[in-house]
Amino acid sequence: MKRREFIKNAGIGVIASSSIAAPAIVHANTGIKWKMVTTWPKNFPVLGTGANELAKLITQMSGGRIKVKVYGAKELIPAFEVFDAVSRGTAQIGHGSAYYWKGKIEEAQFFSTVPYGMNGQEMTSWLYYGGGMQLWEETYKPFGVIPLAAGNTNVQMAGWFNKTINSVKDLQGLKMRIPGLGGEVLKRAGGTPVNLPGGELFTALKTGAIDATEWVGPYNDMAFGLHKAAKYYYYPGWHEPGTTLEAIINKKAYAALPKDLQAIVSNACKVVNQDMSTEFTAKNGVALETLVNKFHVDVKRLPDDVLAKLKTLSHEVVQELAGKNTNAKKIYASYSKFYKQVRAWDDISEKIYYNIR
Ligand code: CA
Repeated sequence: MKRREFIKNAGIGVIASSSIAAPAIVHANTGIKWKMVTTWPKNFPVLGTGANELAKLITQMSGGRIKVKVYGAKELIPAFEVFDAVSRGTAQIGHGSAYYWKGKIEEAQFFSTVPYGMNGQEMTSWLYYGGGMQLWEETYKPFGVIPLAAGNTNVQMAGWFNKTINSVKDLQGLKMRIPGLGGEVLKRAGGTPVNLPGGELFTALKTGAIDATEWVGPYNDMAFGLHKAAKYYYYPGWHEPGTTLEAIINKKAYAALPKDLQAIVSNACKVVNQDMSTEFTAKNGVALETLVNKFHVDVKRLPDDVLAKLKTLSHEVVQELAGKNTNAKKIYASYSKFYKQVRAWDDISEKIYYNIR
């Protein structure tokens, strides 16, 4: 009995002392409020909800010491002004992808995806373990912005078309929404690339303002209703084999955080990076089944000669980008060295396994 009472009292003692300490902790809370601007429509599946999840994780893991409020595209600023907003501190954090800033930093495109380049798993490996992150940080440093990988689409689809693509000729004169380096490749194949935020794709395709569009993959494309605006759904996504989504953070806002909160922010990004990738894989499978069986979408493979031509043009475009400035050259050297090594391994592991299973 005595022992039990002692434990009970000791327990009360612990509770009492922590309840005395608690107000001091609460008092120490500065109540940091961050705005997160995104390039996605608010709550858009995986991309928008992933950004929401990142905000929620930061708030939860910090015990509410940082509260992050998410804004969809156009709510606070237009989709493609996310980088500038974070750079000047209008928002402390942003979610998007690096190729959207190519007008400002051309070599940023290496950190999204490279046509015929690395897939999502390989990209993440390069960023985390191949020196990619350091190069990305250096690239954004002059803008007072810190990048973090925060999601990956994995291999995308080639896109939605209202006519069949039987030869390279069919790409000529084609007005297609396709961002980044893939857009430049299409241009060299005779097409007219345009970039539009995701939220504008359905209307643009439906009204004929564009002839074709790519977006992400079955799950995201179906969410926009693209199957109601085009007949043919082509694969593979040669232009985006594993697009890294990024969280960008205002450097001053990040530097102002104590070390534990900095760790929470960067690790929340790691969680979301993995989580979005797995969510895409799971939901794309389900959505593809629905598109084929319920909506009778004609899923087609791009012809070999078209893929071969696009590959040649892709190499040209990537080489040219690498020659634009010293930073681009440095990034490309790191990327291509890593790609060569990881590819030799993936060729005898992932690739061969896909073929034999
Ligand atoms: Ca895309």
